[in-house]
Amino acid sequence: MEGAPGRSLRSAFLEDGAISRDVVVPEYPELGLIAFASPHDPEPSIRVEDGRIVEIDGTPEAEFDLIDAFLAAHGIDPAVADEAMAIDDLSWARMIVSTDVPRADVLRLVEGATPGKLARVLSLLSPLELMQAMAKMRARRTPSIQGHVTNRIDHPLLIAADAASAVALGFRELETTVPVLRDAPLVALALLIGSQVPAPGALTQCAIEERLELELGMRGLTTYAETVSVYGTERVFLDGDDTPWSKAFLAASYASRGLKMRFTSGSGAEVLMGAAEGKSMLYLEARCLAVTRAAGSQGTQNGGIDGINVTGSVPNGMREILAENVLAALYGLETCTGNDTQMSASDIRRTAHTLPLLLAGSDFLFSGFGSIPTYDNAFGPSNFNAEDIDDYMMIQRDWGFEGALRSKDDATLLPLRRRAAEACRAVLEELELLTFDDAEVERVVHAHGSLDVAQEQTDDTATAGDAVIERGITALDVVRALAARGFDVEAERVLEMTRQRLFGDHLQTSAIFDEDMRVLSALTDPNDYTGPGTGYRVSAERQTEIARVRQERTHAELLAEQAPHAGCVTLAEAGPAAAKVRPDEVVIGVSPAFAKEVWLTLSGVTVGEALRQMLAGIEEEGVHARVVRVTHSLDLGMVGWTAATLSGSGVALGIQGKGTSLIHRADLPVLANLELLSVAPLIGPEHFRALGRNAARHAKGGKPAPVILPESSAAMGPRYHAKVVALITRESACLEPGPARAVEVSWPS
Ligand code: CA
Repeated sequence: MEGAPGRSLRSAFLEDGAISRDVVVPEYPELGLIAFASPHDPEPSIRVEDGRIVEIDGTPEAEFDLIDAFLAAHGIDPAVADEAMAIDDLSWARMIVSTDVPRADVLRLVEGATPGKLARVLSLLSPLELMQAMAKMRARRTPSIQGHVTNRIDHPLLIAADAASAVALGFRELETTVPVLRDAPLVALALLIGSQVPAPGALTQCAIEERLELELGMRGLTTYAETVSVYGTERVFLDGDDTPWSKAFLAASYASRGLKMRFTSGSGAEVLMGAAEGKSMLYLEARCLAVTRAAGSQGTQNGGIDGINVTGSVPNGMREILAENVLAALYGLETCTGNDTQMSASDIRRTAHTLPLLLAGSDFLFSGFGSIPTYDNAFGPSNFNAEDIDDYMMIQRDWGFEGALRSKDDATLLPLRRRAAEACRAVLEELELLTFDDAEVERVVHAHGSLDVAQEQTDDTATAGDAVIERGITALDVVRALAARGFDVEAERVLEMTRQRLFGDHLQTSAIFDEDMRVLSALTDPNDYTGPGTGYRVSAERQTEIARVRQERTHAELLAEQAPHAGCVTLAEAGPAAAKVRPDEVVIGVSPAFAKEVWLTLSGVTVGEALRQMLAGIEEEGVHARVVRVTHSLDLGMVGWTAATLSGSGVALGIQGKGTSLIHRADLPVLANLELLSVAPLIGPEHFRALGRNAARHAKGGKPAPVILPESSAAMGPRYHAKVVALITRESACLEPGPARAVEVSWPS
């Protein structure tokens, strides 16, 4: 293959990479395609007259838009405004990051700051400082995580089973949505049931058209809501037939019935709607968050939600996303921090987007981890989905941060999925909504996703959904049906979710129920991070849980594959090895545990076969061979060199039990060699044979072409390193001082 003129093969290769499917753009402030500090962002200012705000960020009261007017009336505390705005930007930035300034002091000053001021201050923080600020400022001490539970056919039993899996893994908020709106009541009902099977207290929501969503909430079929959207410019509000006041009314409606509720916003939304007014993304998000707090919402879902790919297209986009999350925390809001939309075709880039936040911590690390396969994610792919769950567990293990998830195997998950599917089926039957046969339950229990079940999209789910609405079915009907069919535990738990609405403790800022139904919130579990040794710390017990991942193998498991090959060759030791028996010989030095404790090389070739091939290669060249065991060192160079000093030709082969091999010569330094095959997993029988042949040619004074292993870009280290350590431990156990020993080789007949 040749490169075209002016274009290298490297460029051609790179253009094929996943990252090249991501399209990015230069900053374009006029369209709002700028992360921080647009030239059109206002100069921060405030003016208070007679206890009233009469100017915000350069706009006088007479020119206030809806957002300014709302913030002047409800969002900025005139009593703190002058003090907050008088602090210079850099001092502000340092206050936010410093562990010497209490979180409460910062929260108090934010009450008097304008969106323009806060956006400017946050633009000064580096990624590391933003992480530090997040660790300090977020509301709840204990991080949690929200998951998407959806499927492309709105299969209610699969929703219930997947909800059970999600809760077993550690998700404390489950969010669903539907491709077909009329399916929503049934899907919400299934989610509610499934979510209470492994443990009590997970909150559930169904993100759909607002009127029906509110209706489902009022009936107790959902227990939280988060799709109340706010925007940074007046025009987007008006295009949606909304105002900050209407949003505040909706927030109050949810809260008044005991439903946990948060707003949603996020950079890029105004750009997508062509109404960014030339402002930077962070400035517009600052306005959204100011409205969110002013409207009385306890929290927000933000950080480039639907607009993540817009933000991701401009320079510093991901730093802006993290700054948005910090900004929400500065406003004292519960932070349910994005990561719910796939932001790149590149695995490296999407991981890089999420990792800093994971390390910093958040009230909800994901505002929607796809707990189901990507193809079933009715919100569109999340930044992490079911396909990534093991990667997530491993990253959590690597860093020891609180990722709020835990690995569970099928022995745990399958019974929970069965219970959830059966409980859901029982309720649907009892309420005469829908029936499923045993075979479908069985498929649901074992399914990876909706491609593994028999049901296809049908109108039956929608018809049953209509019936839920028409017949006025509520959570209490679900409780009765569960109890009538013997699902007493689930009945009690669903009832408890309804009962908790009367107490309302979970309406406090940043509240979740833990698995013992205790409310963890900014009130009962406030973030008290003030530097090392403070704030949330992963307990020893939790570290142990985090360490248990699917890929973990014990020493014994790693060595188990050795035993079946024991005896594949016998090396009978016969006293100290003789030196220089004849000039036309090659000596093969084997390591201490070779064919003693180690029987299988890393490539899967037995030590017997490896030795047989080496001997055959030497014989092909008409040279004599004998085998010695080196016991005083397991170092391959020393094994080979020791054998070489005993060889009449001065040339020897050395081999370790794991298969690593070399050709050595007595006159060379120990750490040198003539040829080395170091990548043991790639050394096949033909390479052992070729190495034997080359050793013999060296012994005859030739200059053979070296043996080349096949090319490979595979990650050998992570795959084999643990096994290497286990095998080396066996070699080490066989170490003994003293001279090399003569060995008689015999093969099983
Ligand atoms: Ca969400």
